[in-house]
Amino acid sequence: MLKGKGWIAFLTIVLFTAALSYFAREKNGAARQEAWSSHTLADAGYEDEAPYKGKVALTFDDGPHPVCTPQLLVGLKKRDVKVTFFVTGENVESYPEIVKRASEEGHLIGNHTFHHVQLTAANSDDFKKEIISTNDIIQEVTGKETSFIRPPYGSWDKKYEKELNMFPVLWDVDPLDWCSTNVDKIVRSVLAGTKENSIILMHDSYDSTVTAALQVVDILKAEGYEFVTVDEILFD
Ligand SMILES: [Zn+2]
Repeated sequence: MLKGKGWIAFLTIVLFTAALSYFAREKNGAARQEAWSSHTLADAGYEDEAPYKGKVALTFDDGPHPVCTPQLLVGLKKRDVKVTFFVTGENVESYPEIVKRASEEGHLIGNHTFHHVQLTAANSDDFKKEIISTNDIIQEVTGKETSFIRPPYGSWDKKYEKELNMFPVLWDVDPLDWCSTNVDKIVRSVLAGTKENSIILMHDSYDSTVTAALQVVDILKAEGYEFVTVDEILFD
């Protein structure tokens, strides 16, 4: 058992290790951003030479947004990149044409519940209705069924997988883009954590996210990554 000074030494080591790993991640993100910008300036052919590094998936929650999502779609089309949108039913209802367009342009549309509801111990029946009504409106608007869901706040119960034939999609890279408008910071945070088969969580409701996401696409493509929709990572 640790006592007194033992605890202080232990906590110091834990905090020090956490700080070191945080700074190492930050450094990795900054280094990747820097490598890209110097290559872009020095050598426009970088992209052709990069060896294949594997697949990654960009995912966007909470949309569609009337202004930001169309901007993002234009940028993605220009880069020939497909992503996954986890939309709420109420936003599909408000902006059906944007969801239809995203689907027609090859992006995958997934479920994020109708009213952005968190599953709790008490709301199981309502949560199920939220999933079903969102599936219905997605199918009505896109003509396609979806079996992918990003449960709000990551709260999920495995029983829905069988009951509703829904597959939950979580993430391993979270740049917290919703709480910063600093594009560079968001880009570095994504780069710090992204590796082969990463699923990156972002939100297409912010200008800064759209700019950061397109920069992330340019950098990771130049590094040799291929952007795919989540089904290609989860069922490959
Ligand atoms: Zn959300």
